[in-house]
Amino acid sequence: MLIRELLAQKGPSEVKCVRPEQTLLEMARKLRSNNIGALLVTDENDKLVGVVSERDLVRAIIEHESAVVERPVSDVMTRSVISCSPDDSVMETLAVMNEKQIRHIPVLERKKIRAMISIREFDHACKHLQAQARTDELTGLANRRYFMESLEKEFGRYQRFRTPFSVAMLDIDHFKHVNDMFGHEAGDRVLSALAKLLVRELRTFDGVGRLGGEEFAILFANTEIDKAEMACQRLIAAIRAEEVVTDEGTIRYTASFGLAGIDADTNDSGAMLKRADKLLYDAKNSGRNRIVTQPAQRPRNIVKTRAAMAHGPDLAALLQAPAK
Ligand code: GH3
Ligand code: MG
Ligand code: MG
Repeated sequence: MLIRELLAQKGPSEVKCVRPEQTLLEMARKLRSNNIGALLVTDENDKLVGVVSERDLVRAIIEHESAVVERPVSDVMTRSVISCSPDDSVMETLAVMNEKQIRHIPVLERKKIRAMISIREFDHACKHLQAQARTDELTGLANRRYFMESLEKEFGRYQRFRTPFSVAMLDIDHFKHVNDMFGHEAGDRVLSALAKLLVRELRTFDGVGRLGGEEFAILFANTEIDKAEMACQRLIAAIRAEEVVTDEGTIRYTASFGLAGIDADTNDSGAMLKRADKLLYDAKNSGRNRIVTQPAQRPRNIVKTRAAMAHGPDLAALLQAPAK
């Protein structure tokens, strides 16, 4: 992320300046009335000549005590100003600020003052960036990377405390037809609607992620597979009952689920997701619109899959023709 993007996020704001010959009392009033922590010091040509902050004011009070209010800003301001440009990286600028213990930094563009950014604003931008890096833009769910991280953490918990957990993978059936019949934008609406449905129907501590395309995953934390299966059945029923109203018509859709529980044979979180993926594949091959579950703790040689729901009309029957 560049400083330029941080400025866009921050929105327009007037840069507050003070002249070197103004008094500390005037400076203090300006800080107070604008509710800010520092001011830029500019000369009569609006050229940046220093930065002055609350910290400088405190230092001046200790030094000059009662005589302080009439002293000029130039007595206390920092003259060797560290600045940045809109094209600098936020992370690198933040590192410099931390190293030099600077709380405010002016942004100069072609020697002109563009803005002043506080360390709090940097902090805020970094948190926003981190959240963005974890989120799938279309649905607002966790993206694949963040989902995998959560899964890995849950696997670590299992290894330490033997807390059971289950993982489901689900994929919208015949989604290509949805796009073909209603258009890509309407397809996107379906993806967002499914994300909302999953969040609404699941417990707050279950993890939901969009792994890519029309493929989602659910982490049932601290949940045995039979309980997770009940939750998936609730979801599949809710999906079948859902209508997504778009300008192109009302869309109904179904999804297939593969559900895996943790067992002694699972060596890592990736293997667990692979198992769920394999079960999802079985659900697709055995007719779609169903859950295929592999119970946990089943001895290795007699692994069976089971269709938890094997009914429901084909998608073609569920899709209503676009409005004329
Ligand atoms: P299946 O039942 O076997 O899963 O069939 P399907 O048509 O859902 O699966 P397929 O893999 O053949 O097609 C997936 C489609 O999903 C194709 C692709 O255009 C669409 N798709 C992937 N990502 C997005 C997206 O972000 N938005 C929209 N609208 N469509 C997407
Ligand atoms: Mg699909
Ligand atoms: Mg798919």
